[in-house]
Amino acid sequence: MSLEHRCADLHLHTYFSDGTYSPEELVAQAQRQDLQALALTDHDTVEGCAPTAAACDRLGIEFIAGTELTAEQDGHEIHILGYGIDLENPRFLTEIGKFQAVRQNRIREMVQRLNQLNVPLQAEKVFALANCRAPGRPHVARALVQAGLVGSLDEAFERFLKKNRPAWVPKFKMSAREATQLIHESGGVAVMAHPGLNRSDEGIPIMVEGGLDGIECFHTKHSAAISEHYLQMAARYQLLVTGGSDCHGLSKGRPLIGSVRLAYEHVEKLKARAAERRAATARHIPA
Ligand code: AMP
Ligand code: ZN
Ligand code: FE
Ligand code: FE
Repeated sequence: MSLEHRCADLHLHTYFSDGTYSPEELVAQAQRQDLQALALTDHDTVEGCAPTAAACDRLGIEFIAGTELTAEQDGHEIHILGYGIDLENPRFLTEIGKFQAVRQNRIREMVQRLNQLNVPLQAEKVFALANCRAPGRPHVARALVQAGLVGSLDEAFERFLKKNRPAWVPKFKMSAREATQLIHESGGVAVMAHPGLNRSDEGIPIMVEGGLDGIECFHTKHSAAISEHYLQMAARYQLLVTGGSDCHGLSKGRPLIGSVRLAYEHVEKLKARAAERRAATARHIPA
């Protein structure tokens, strides 16, 4: 494989958040798609990183540790991808532990609301199905379908779980700046996920000021024109360029892995920045 043709998918989920693939299935799919590198970016957790790294090792695929943090900018939810994080960093683990506790309490609250609407779902059913530290609305939707309380995942969201529907509960979010700082302090690189899904670009200069390293120009839901728009923005603000499919396995229709193929040169730049961040955090560790 010549250097120029190597490709990566830097936005992937497993069943450690709301994807359906195990790490082993995900990596097997990556091999089938002829990807040379991948990053795991489960929501608010890094639990899946060790098994995914091991699976990548077995198949000779390069692995980059990652996560997708839920954050907020100007009242809008945005997602910040963190790459190359030190998975043992105590502060990082404490902070995402808080996110996870909030997510678990939120499940209980959503179930309570459903019960008040005479939908007899049990929180334990959701936790058993989710079987991970970062459960979310997709797991509630799946549990509702499994219990025969709704006919489909879409129905679950439309009737109950979408924003401002009766069982919707807002999610705790840190500010984009806090998420960026947390990623930096953990030796990682902070990248704004799928900017094309946001309502506006207004927050981007503010996030750049807050230390944002990169922007996800290539994403399943970005048209060629949108990708081009964010490539220009990356050039203007000197941001790293990343891309990924945001594959959730089978939970959102067809598996998307391999449908967005990031040229490897961007992975190299990302790795170089991560190495700088790691070196900077190492210098700050008190003797
Ligand atoms: P949460 O992090 O718990 O708020 O859940 C967010 C997840 O729910 C994301 O993966 C979304 O893609 C998914 N989601 C949000 N709205 C819908 C919807 N209308 N139908 C299906 N999935 C949705
Ligand atoms: Zn997701
Ligand atoms: Fe996202
Ligand atoms: Fe994602």
